[in-house]
Amino acid sequence: MTGKSAARGAPYFKVRRSRVHGRGAFALRRIRKGTRIIEYLGERVTHQEADRRYEDRGERDNHTFLFIVDARTVIDAGVGGNDARFINHSCGPNCEAVIEGKRVFIEAIRTIQPGEELNYDYQLGRSADDPPDVDEIYACRCGQPDCRGTMLWPAKKNPPRCASAGKRPGKRPKKASRGASHRRSAR
Ligand SMILES: [Zn+2]
Repeated sequence: MTGKSAARGAPYFKVRRSRVHGRGAFALRRIRKGTRIIEYLGERVTHQEADRRYEDRGERDNHTFLFIVDARTVIDAGVGGNDARFINHSCGPNCEAVIEGKRVFIEAIRTIQPGEELNYDYQLGRSADDPPDVDEIYACRCGQPDCRGTMLWPAKKNPPRCASAGKRPGKRPKKASRGASHRRSAR
């Protein structure tokens, strides 16, 4: 049995309001570890075109439908996107984004129970001209014990205060940064 052997027909999740951020994706049934849940779809454009489309949003807009495929291509789920765009960020996620053949798939990294919200680590990049409060703009409220307080990656040396209790300054998530990451609207 492989991760691709998803049963056809019955959907894995439905989209409804989330306490974390806007709408979210919630499991409708048990999803086994390794299951390929959905492909992240949208129009495939260049980074330059993505910049052009979202330049008016400005650096204070924390919504992102952009997913980096490689140095050349970005998927813009704002155009022709599917329900994958509603899957929220978490610092202690139950899914991960996998790039395969220049396509992006969301896969379960552990078994997920019905009703659980699906999420993965957006790993939004940093840039030299970020405003000082960029971590607040992209604040994370995932509530995980190891929440780094921001959707950005890597975490800052002095991470911002986190909503979750018991967080020790300087604690880093164990998981190494992987290739698949979202891109911010403004660069
Ligand atoms: Zn978090």
